[in-house]
Amino acid sequence: MAFDAPTMMTLSIVLAATAALYLALEWRSVRESPLLFWSGGFATITIGSTLALLRGSGLIFIGIWFANGLLVTAHLLFLLGVVRFTETRLSRAWYLVFVVWLAMLLLPEGPQWSKIMLLTNSLLVASLTLKASFLLCPHGTSLSVGATQLRYVLLVHGSFYVAKALTAVTPGTLIDLTAFRGEIIQISLVEGAMAIMLIAMSMTGTVRWRREKRIARLAARDPLTTLYNRRALEVRAPRLLNDVSAARPGALLLIDIDNFKPINDLHGHTAGDRLLVTLSGMIRAHLPEGALAARLGGDEFVILLREASNERIFSLGNVLREQFHLETSQTFATPEAVTLSIGASLFDQPPASLAALIEQCDAALYESKRNGRDSIRLLDRTASGEPTPSRETL
Ligand code: GH3
Ligand code: MG
Repeated sequence: MAFDAPTMMTLSIVLAATAALYLALEWRSVRESPLLFWSGGFATITIGSTLALLRGSGLIFIGIWFANGLLVTAHLLFLLGVVRFTETRLSRAWYLVFVVWLAMLLLPEGPQWSKIMLLTNSLLVASLTLKASFLLCPHGTSLSVGATQLRYVLLVHGSFYVAKALTAVTPGTLIDLTAFRGEIIQISLVEGAMAIMLIAMSMTGTVRWRREKRIARLAARDPLTTLYNRRALEVRAPRLLNDVSAARPGALLLIDIDNFKPINDLHGHTAGDRLLVTLSGMIRAHLPEGALAARLGGDEFVILLREASNERIFSLGNVLREQFHLETSQTFATPEAVTLSIGASLFDQPPASLAALIEQCDAALYESKRNGRDSIRLLDRTASGEPTPSRETL
C-alpha cells in the first residue's frame, strides 16, 4: 500500500480515534478530568480528519476550512487538559482563537488564501501547544517526571507548527490544500500521525505517574499526623541502620504519651486526635537532619537518629517532654499529668532488625512508665556505654 495523503489521513483517523477511546477508558477508571479534555481533543481530531477526507470529493468548505478549525479546537482542548492537570488558570483571551477560527471560515478559495489559512491555522495550533508545554514547566512546585515527557512532546509539536507557519509564507512553496499536495502537507501528515501516538502516550503516562506517586505517598503516611507509618519506617530504616558504626552511632527513641486515654474520655476523641497532631508537629519541628520519625500506632511514636550520642538523645527527648507537658497542662484539665515517656537505645553496630531494636526500647519505655512516667530511659549499647540504663527527668 502506498502512503499517499488519503492513506496517511486514514491512518491518522484510526490513531486519533484509538487515542480518544483509550484516554476515555482511562478516565472512566481514574476519573482525572484532564484525561476527559484530552480524549475530547482526539475525538475532535478524528472528526476533523474524517471531514478533511471529503475535500477530495469537492466539499471544500467542510473539508478544508471547517476541518482545520476543528484541529485548532482539538489543541485548545489539549491546552485545557493541561490547565486542569497543572491546576492553573487560563486567561479568557485564549478563547479568542474561536473568533479567529470563525473569521477564517469566511475566507474565499484560492492559492493565496490557502497560504493565509495555513499560516493562521499553524500559528493558532503552535501557540496553543507551546502554551500547554510552557504550563508544564516546573515553576515553584516541581512537576512530576511524567509531566516532563509530555512537556517536551508538546514543545516539539508546537515548534513543528511554527516551522510550518514560516514555510507557508516562504515564496515558491507549493501548497494545494484541495488536492493534499505540497511537501509541507505531506510532512505534516506524517508528523500528525506520530504526534498523535506520542502525545496520547505521554498524556496517559503523565496522569498515571502522578497517581502512582500520590498512592505511594498516601500508603507511606499515617493519615492523622502525616508522619511515616510503621510500614514506611520498616522500608526506610535499614538504610540508616546499616550506616551505623562506632564513629557514627545510631539511636532509636520510642515515645508514648502518658495518661492519654483520659483525654479521650474527658475531652472527646477529637481532642485526643488534636493532641496527637500537636505532638507530631513538635517531633517534626525538632527532628534533626537525616533522622526519621514515624507514628507506630495509637499514642506511640518513633524517632530514628543518625550520628547520635547520649547528649543528643537527652537534649531532643527533654525538649519534647518539656514542650508537650507545657502544652497539655495549659490545654487540658486531667486528674493525672499528660506527659511523655521515652525508651531509647544508643548503638554503634547495626542491630539484628528494626523489630528487635523497637523491642529493646519498649522494655526501656516500660521501665520509664513503671518509675513514675515523664522521663527518658536510655540503654547505651555502644562499646563505651554504661551497662545500666540511665534515666533523666525534668
Ligand atoms: P499510659 O499512660 O500507660 O501510656 O496509658 P494511656 O492512657 O496513654 O493509654 P495507652 O497508651 O495504653 O493507650 C493509648 C490509647 O490511645 C488507646 C486508645 O484509646 C487511644 N488511641 C489510639 N489511637 C487513637 C487515635 O487515633 N485517636 C485518639 N483520639 N485516640 C487514640
Ligand atoms: Mg500512652
